[in-house]
Amino acid sequence: MSLPDLFERGVGIAGNRKIVDFYGRRTSYLDIHAEAQQVAAALQRAGVGKGDRVGLFLPNVPVYLAAYYGIMIAGATAVNFSPLYTVEELAAQVADSGVTILFTIDSSALLPTAQAVLECSGLKTLVVESLADMLPRLKSALLRIVGRRQITAIPADDSRIVAYARFKAGCAKPEPVTIDPEKDIAVLQYTGGTTGLPKGAMLTHQNISANARQTLRVDVHRGERDIMLGVLPMFHIFANIVVLNRTVLDGGMIVMLPRFDARQTLKALGRVRATSLPGVPTMYQALLDHPDVTKTDFTTLRICISGGAPLPLPLKRKFEDATGAHVIEGYGLTESCIVSTNPFEGHNFEKPGTIGQPLPQTRVRLLDKEDPTRLAPPGEPGELAIKGPQTMVGYWRRPNDDSVFADGYLRTGDVATIDADGFITIVDRIKDMISVGGFKVFPSQIEDIILARDTVKEALVIGIPDSYLGEVPKAYVTLVDGASEDATVLRDWINGQVGKHERLRAVEFRDELPKTMIGKLDRKALRAEISQAKAAP
Ligand code: AMP
Repeated sequence: MSLPDLFERGVGIAGNRKIVDFYGRRTSYLDIHAEAQQVAAALQRAGVGKGDRVGLFLPNVPVYLAAYYGIMIAGATAVNFSPLYTVEELAAQVADSGVTILFTIDSSALLPTAQAVLECSGLKTLVVESLADMLPRLKSALLRIVGRRQITAIPADDSRIVAYARFKAGCAKPEPVTIDPEKDIAVLQYTGGTTGLPKGAMLTHQNISANARQTLRVDVHRGERDIMLGVLPMFHIFANIVVLNRTVLDGGMIVMLPRFDARQTLKALGRVRATSLPGVPTMYQALLDHPDVTKTDFTTLRICISGGAPLPLPLKRKFEDATGAHVIEGYGLTESCIVSTNPFEGHNFEKPGTIGQPLPQTRVRLLDKEDPTRLAPPGEPGELAIKGPQTMVGYWRRPNDDSVFADGYLRTGDVATIDADGFITIVDRIKDMISVGGFKVFPSQIEDIILARDTVKEALVIGIPDSYLGEVPKAYVTLVDGASEDATVLRDWINGQVGKHERLRAVEFRDELPKTMIGKLDRKALRAEISQAKAAP
């Protein structure tokens, strides 16, 4: 199924029913459909055609939906960018993907970044939705997200910057485009993969629609009264599948919050009588820790879908006890459109502490950790590899080499065991990624910044345990002979140049860092040393 077809299906089921409620602004499926058609026609008017890439640099705002499906209806590929990106990060991905048109909003955290990217990449047009046109409550919530309570005026004298209303004015119906769901790329989703260099996972229409359908056994939308609370960021594939496309497939309803905030989420849960809440483990922990948890009415909350990072069993139990909802844990990665395994809803099909079983039509293998061309010995842990309709076709403009696929199976970089009933447990990670409360951080990107400092000889960044976020980055550094540095000064200097989740907890100086036989810095050995030191009495 193509995503325009999936969208049509939702419109057919739900029609005038409201799809989304953003702080009280309710929009029906038919309204979003009409707006998406306008966007598609406007994109075509601007010369966008099949296979072209169009960017989304947006938090959870109403325009996201119309722009996302509008891009697909025009036959183009949507490229999701995190609204937390710096100019350098956004510019690099815009240039790599070849995005020429970018949708954003006029908040002081996003518009200046997007404007700077206009000057240093192949970007030609910015389409800017105005916060001033949104509900006052939505506007203030959005400005809270960006931390600066300001709207940046849309420059009137720059023809490259167009207001959203003007961009789609006079457009109604796009020219029909034929989409091949198995071949055409619906979404380019940038991720670090197993190596940490950002690259675009090419997700076809089939990948995404199949993944939404594969999760149908988790019964989130039973009827018109069911409401999903969408607080996960739409730019991430977890929300894109589990919140957006999964809901649209069923013609269900989402109440969307611009961002996760524990107090607002608890308030919204009771106020809208939400029945489902997908999230990452740190989100469920933050809700439990908030004083308002005891005042919140959870009677309607039925199911929570946790993903993105391991869900500690005590957290699952505590959240279930406090709310009466059932918390299930899914697993996946951007390259598998996110969901690869989960339990069936219902306690009979669940083994808490595991990530469940492969989804329908999904095969998994455990590869030998030393030689991924072979299977792991029976009963031994191995690198999890996945094959199914949801696994990506490859990375944008990069070869599908052996580090990506092994015999047609996507390598995950996660080490797992499988029990006799087919339930999978993640036991370790081979890839360098650090999961900071579900946000993925790649050490090499922070190391490159540290190494730009004249005083630094070598640097390794690894994740250290944190009771709330799961893990946080810490740097181990050697200095050039005769140089001196203060650890806090160096840490603050690095933290001033990286995104929020990449910020280092600490910098530790060493005389030497572990090396491999051929003299390369050995992150694995450092990780083993740190975890042994922690385990020692
Ligand atoms: P991303 O591509 O950013 O979604 O990150 C995917 C990675 O998150 C996986 O390869 C795992 O390392 C981790 N991950 C996701 N879900 C789980 C889970 N339920 N348990 C353990 N790790 C997970």
